[in-house]
Amino acid sequence: MSIAKSDLHSALKKYFGFSKFKGLQEAVVESILSKKHTFVIMPTGGGKSLCYQLPALMQEGTAIVVSPLIALMKNQVDAIRGISNEEGVAHVLNSSLNKTEIKRVKEDIVNGVTKLLYVAPESLTKEENVEFLRSVKISFMAIDEAHCISEWGHDFRPEYRNLKTIIARIGDDIPIIGLTATATPKVQEDIIKNLGIAGATTFKASFNRPNLYYEVRPKTKHVDVDIIRFIKQNQGKSGIVYCLSRKRVEELAQVLQVNGIKAVPYHAGLDAKSRSSYQDQFLMEDVDVVVATIAFGMGIDKPDVRFVIHHDIPKSIESYYQETGRAGRDGGEGHCLAYYSYKDIEKLEKFMSGKPVAEQEIGHALLQEVVAFAETSISRRKFILHYFGEEFDNETGEGGDMDDNVRHPKKKHEAQDDVKI
Ligand code: ADP
Ligand code: MG
Repeated sequence: MSIAKSDLHSALKKYFGFSKFKGLQEAVVESILSKKHTFVIMPTGGGKSLCYQLPALMQEGTAIVVSPLIALMKNQVDAIRGISNEEGVAHVLNSSLNKTEIKRVKEDIVNGVTKLLYVAPESLTKEENVEFLRSVKISFMAIDEAHCISEWGHDFRPEYRNLKTIIARIGDDIPIIGLTATATPKVQEDIIKNLGIAGATTFKASFNRPNLYYEVRPKTKHVDVDIIRFIKQNQGKSGIVYCLSRKRVEELAQVLQVNGIKAVPYHAGLDAKSRSSYQDQFLMEDVDVVVATIAFGMGIDKPDVRFVIHHDIPKSIESYYQETGRAGRDGGEGHCLAYYSYKDIEKLEKFMSGKPVAEQEIGHALLQEVVAFAETSISRRKFILHYFGEEFDNETGEGGDMDDNVRHPKKKHEAQDDVKI
């Protein structure tokens, strides 16, 4: 199918109200419309959803979107319904639907009304769903958060493993689109292999976040005092402090409160009501700081988070990148401060010791990269981008001087003297 550029732009305007494509979106949409297997690697916030939503809306048939989180699927379906007069244009197919609802979804698909069908991978494996989807017109399959298919990713999901087989059963010439914000070459290889899309047209956006300032400080026993000082210097600004354990989250949130900082805790052990209340307080700016485990952040879109502090170093560079990536979404200032002590690495290694050997090996390799990042004296931005397979030149690249190593070069022995623990 050949579509004129002006048609793409008018479709973009018609469905989304945007006058311009962001980054590589237009090229991706073209690739999908021409029925090619397509692989999209773009950082979070890059606008991946539109890459498959627009071609789905423009074509005949139903696009199947596989996504791991029910909450995110619901958000997207609501958003798509909001831009169309037809409620049936997007549906979620999952186990929570009753018989009548399932009947309605199937009717809308059969009648060509539904352009986007969101499914969790575990629903897609159900025999009755496979049988049904085989019998209808599918425009393409989009696998969002495709890194979930790789054990090297930060969010491996076993349910993603069988996707290739299931897709083949639904139809053998369905274009497959994989999308992820994970840029490591290993994960990318896994995605291509496990989805069976060798030769896919690949679009990779730069992962550079030039407005973020990266800093690593040695972690001493005064870390809490240091964090309090940092937050007070940034009074009134929104920030997230990540800790490894729920216990530490609770303790630190309290310490901050006692010191006059408007802070709330957030972790998966809190009941749903407190979690959503704390999250709202942060979004509404009733509080400035969320002290959280990694449970906080997926799908949170607060554009003006001004700092992300890692009280404990994360278990991979990818996690670090994702978590710091929540700062400065609006393009404004974003300070990323991580505290590092080798002791924490040993702790993380110990956590893994009960796991299967293969997992331990992966975990260990990922951690060694974190150690190298924390201890490096080269530009941190250069380090991160290199990890993601991107060469970065500090002299000419955007944000080239936005980290502690570049601004305040240290000799190696000085850096080591600072470490008290
Ligand atoms: P990702 O999935 O890559 O993290 P999203 O698809 O959630 O990113 O999009 C991030 C934000 O960018 C959304 O608020 C979306 O509305 C916005 N966006 C996407 N494409 C465009 C565009 N062409 N023009 C303006 N805003 C856009
Ligand atoms: Mg997304």
